[in-house]
Formats: sequence, structure tokens, C-alpha cells
Amino acid sequence: MKIVVQKFGGTSVSTEENRQQVINKVKNAIKEGYSPVLVVSAMGRKGQPYATDTLLSLIDDKFKNTNKLAKDLLMCCGEIISSVVMSDDLYNAGIDAVPLTGGQAGILTDNNFNEATCIDVKPKKIFDLVSQGRVPVVTGFQGVTENGYLTTLGRGGSDTTASILGVALKAEAIEIYTDVDGIMTADPRVVENANLIDVISYYEVFQLAEKGATVIHPKAVEVAMEGNIPILIKNTMSDCKGTLINNFGDKSNDRMMTGITSQKNRIQVSITAAENQGNSKYKNVLDLLAANKISLDLINIFPSEQIFTVNQADKETLENVLNSANLKYILIENCSKVAVIGSKMKGIPGVMAKIIKALSDNNIEVLQTADSHMTIWCLVHSKDEKEAINVLHKTFKL
Ligand code: ADP
Ligand code: MG
Repeated sequence: MKIVVQKFGGTSVSTEENRQQVINKVKNAIKEGYSPVLVVSAMGRKGQPYATDTLLSLIDDKFKNTNKLAKDLLMCCGEIISSVVMSDDLYNAGIDAVPLTGGQAGILTDNNFNEATCIDVKPKKIFDLVSQGRVPVVTGFQGVTENGYLTTLGRGGSDTTASILGVALKAEAIEIYTDVDGIMTADPRVVENANLIDVISYYEVFQLAEKGATVIHPKAVEVAMEGNIPILIKNTMSDCKGTLINNFGDKSNDRMMTGITSQKNRIQVSITAAENQGNSKYKNVLDLLAANKISLDLINIFPSEQIFTVNQADKETLENVLNSANLKYILIENCSKVAVIGSKMKGIPGVMAKIIKALSDNNIEVLQTADSHMTIWCLVHSKDEKEAINVLHKTFKL
């Protein structure tokens, strides 16, 4: 039995016309001797009736923030509808499809509602269906707790479902079908002439995904990597060969940079020693914020000041904490963190200099930088984000 997991994103299942393309992909897999196991996301994007964000808009913010269990129950509906509708279309096309919830497919999670982690998979049900020549259509993004409560795996979690099943079923491959040709050197909505990456390592794509590229969920990459199952990212609407993600990446390519991505909604926070003289809380700021569950990044600590960024969503809590500690601070809102990723830039001198020069030549103010062995980050004003990405894309000839 050669199993292939085929995951179809929200756009791919949103209309009858698109679902026809899904049927073609399933038929092709069967023709090539594979037993497909499908994973589907909720149909469409915000505004469309059964999209996750549309469903979430049915309930009050306060209720959903304090009733995580109810929020999960509501969010699970989108994928349930999608799996039944997709199964109906497949059935009408002569394919014996069987819709299954995450729990019915054997995905057990912890109790961390809204951001649950898979703790076990019991794939017997799927194996049974596949061995009967049937095609399971599993709801993405969800599982069930030991006590039978429905959980979700965090936004973008349908990719994770595909990887979880791919590994549990020892699939030949995990195919992630979406609305672009594969992993590109930058988001094609941001960089018009972004290029398709043919082959990329798990490690590089994890970095891209973690730093903002929504094309695949980082957790899905991690899970597939641990099980050593190759991932293919493909376009539902075309026959483009897509991007292959495996352990080795592209041996024949010695590009220094792989891609550029970004994250919006960052706030830069600066707290100076001079402004906070005599305030004993100053040296414990990081502890104070950690105790209030505010996560920080781009942290730079100098003798004269402490600088870091937080998510826009944490602004209110941050200000409450700093004000009640009588700390003086400066905020720069509407910032974006642009990340340049490349596995071969380690130890090459002048990369940061090249980035800074390119940005300043284009009058883009760099508020802060940071680097790790594979990534260089620049914090810029969000109004400059798109231009910064395009400038860097050109600078590194991606
Ligand atoms: P799906 O609903 O199929 O999961 P997503 O919206 O989650 O689709 O992911 C696909 C989108 O990811 C594309 O439409 C594209 O705009 C965006 N994207 C961001 N970065 C990249 C990248 N480096 N390569 C390809 N697509 C990217
Ligand atoms: Mg997605």
C-alpha cells in the first residue's frame, strides 16, 4: 500500500470549480498507484460563509477569549463542513470518499485548547478504509482530547494534520496543495517576480515558515522532518511541479540566501537607564514581562538601555505592567520584522553591511537588527515593509 497524504487549503476547496481540480489531483494519485488520504481546511477565506474567521465572527470576543473550549468547538465546524462537501463531490466523481473528524482519524491531543499538541495517533481506522479502497477525507486543524473534547492545533494547523498523518501512515509523501506554485523566494503577493524554489531542506523552510511565510506551518515541517517524510508544496490550480522539501535541500545550488519573509504588528519598546534612575524595577523588566506572559524578541540589552519588540496584541498588558512599575518607556508602533534567510551565509563577512546599505540607499529606516546563524532580521516601519523586502530580494538576486 503506497499512501500519499494530500492536503488542500481553504482556497482549493472553496468553490465547486476548485474542488473539481482537487478531484483531478486525487484521480491522478490513484492512477499512479497511490492510496490517497485527504486533509482539508475550512472552505475559503474570511467573508465566505464557512471560513474559520467568518465562523469566529459569530461569537463575541469576550466569550471566545474566556471559553477556549467553545471557540474550538466552533472552529472545528469549518473543517467538518469542508470534509463532508469534498467527500460528496468525490463521491459524485466515482470515488468512495469517507469524511472523518480529526478524532475519528485517530488524532489525540493534549488539553491546550486553541493551540493543542498531538500526543498520539491511532491510524487504524484510516488504514482500514484505505485497505478497502476508500478515500478518507480528514478534517484538518483538529484533534480530540482523551475525554472527548474537540481541540484545534493553532491557525494554519491543517498542514500539521497532514504531517501528523503522513508520519503515522508512513506515507510516501505529504502533498500540500495551495494557491501558489510552491515555496517562493518571497511571498508572491509582496514580490511580483519572486522565484519558485525547486528543492529546499526542512531546516531552511522551517526558518522561512517560522519567520512569517504562511505557505506552510512550521510545526508541519518539524513533524515531517522527524518522520523523514518528504513534503511537496503544489498548486491545486496548475500542474507545476512545485517545491520538494527533504533533508538535503538543493545540493546543486550554492545560493547564499534562500528567501525573505516578514512579520507585521510588532511594537518596539525602549527603556533607558537614564530615564529610570532610582527605579529598582528597571533591572528586572524582562522578568516582569515574562511573569505577565508577554513574549519578547529582538532583545538588545545595553548598559544605557533595554530594547525589544512585542506583539501589537500585547500592547495593553505591556503598558499596564510598565506603568504600574513606574517605568518610563518609548514605544514605536506599526513595525515589521523583515527576515532574510540563508543556510550558507554563516561566516560570510559583509552580509549585514550589504543589507543596511541597500535599505538606507532606499531611504528605509532600520530601527533594529539581529542575526542568528541562518537569519538576519531588520525591524522597519510597516509602511516600508514591502519596499524593504523588494529591495533585499533584488540585492541578493533572489
Ligand atoms: P492555504 O489556505 O492553502 O493553506 P495559505 O494562505 O495558508 O494557503 O498559504 C498560501 C499563501 O502563502 C500564498 O497565497 C502566499 O501569498 C503566501 N506566502 C507567503 N510567503 C510565501 C512564500 N515564500 N512562498 C509562497 N507563498 C508564500
Ligand atoms: Mg495555510
